[in-house]
Amino acid sequence: MTELFTASQLSKRYGDTRVVDGVSFSIAPGECLGVIGPNGAGKTTTIRMCLGHTAPDGGTVQFDPGTGAPPLRMPRDALAIKAQLGVVTQFDTLDPDFTCAENLRVFGRYFGLKGAVMDERVPRLLEFAALTHKAHAKPGELSGGMKRRLSLARALVNDPRLLLLDEPTTGLDPQARHLMWERLQRLLQQGKSILLTTHFMDEAERLCSRLLVLDHGRKITEGRPRELIARHLEPDVVEVYGVGAVALAHDDALRALAARVEVSGETVFFYTQNAQPLLQAVGQQGHLRTLHRPANLEDLFLKLTGRQIREDG
Ligand code: ADP
Repeated sequence: MTELFTASQLSKRYGDTRVVDGVSFSIAPGECLGVIGPNGAGKTTTIRMCLGHTAPDGGTVQFDPGTGAPPLRMPRDALAIKAQLGVVTQFDTLDPDFTCAENLRVFGRYFGLKGAVMDERVPRLLEFAALTHKAHAKPGELSGGMKRRLSLARALVNDPRLLLLDEPTTGLDPQARHLMWERLQRLLQQGKSILLTTHFMDEAERLCSRLLVLDHGRKITEGRPRELIARHLEPDVVEVYGVGAVALAHDDALRALAARVEVSGETVFFYTQNAQPLLQAVGQQGHLRTLHRPANLEDLFLKLTGRQIREDG
């Protein structure tokens, strides 16, 4: 088995609802797989089944131990699998009474670290998290970005081969997000694998080598970000916005110049193979503003999962 982690045909029901329905995926060493989908799509339940926190009704979770031995299986080998996983949950679970260094040491002890190994690893992880100067501060004294990086450092204390990250940058300001992305890229370069969920399509495009799009508990597509965009979308998008823009969505002459037309709020999106004739035609409506750009993951997400807001599933 060359894949590090393999989930096959995972399924879960709550009551009469199948919240995860036959989802399969695998993660290779050094790969970042992103799981994206609207609220209620089944992302958290899928990850919880991978972690052994939720028992699936069907399907298997396997982990390659990397020693040539047969694959480890959840839940039979849960402890051995967890020893090779690092987890960062969406909400920080740091101990508020301990300093940053102590938070790492306590977690290290769960994994049996001690002595020289612990003494070397804790300062190295604090440095990785850009928190050396906060080693003796408690989490309450840290910014949101620092707390997330401390959680990441804590997830690395057992030197895991696979990291599971649930919305790692939600709530962070742009500087903190960029710093987090840079650190995650470093981990990928070191050969670690990452499974992450995100609502940010720029994050998915930047970090993920492959994406799994879930909706209503099912995998609706899977692939490399650029391949998915090329497979599902026209290459060019002309966005038109401003007072009266929405009426253009019903203009037959403009519609004829686009392969697909979408409206979201007060913006019209024209998806096309060739933007120039559209730009010229829209330009004649002097007061409207236009943005011509390549199709991106956000367009893909909205095409595949719809534009309605989902409060929950
Ligand atoms: P996502 O992470 O994509 O938002 P979830 O996996 O959290 O989706 O939820 C999928 C669906 O399963 C939702 O409709 C949610 O309400 C439901 N669900 C999740 N956990 C439970 C539970 N413990 N009991 C009942 N329903 C649940």
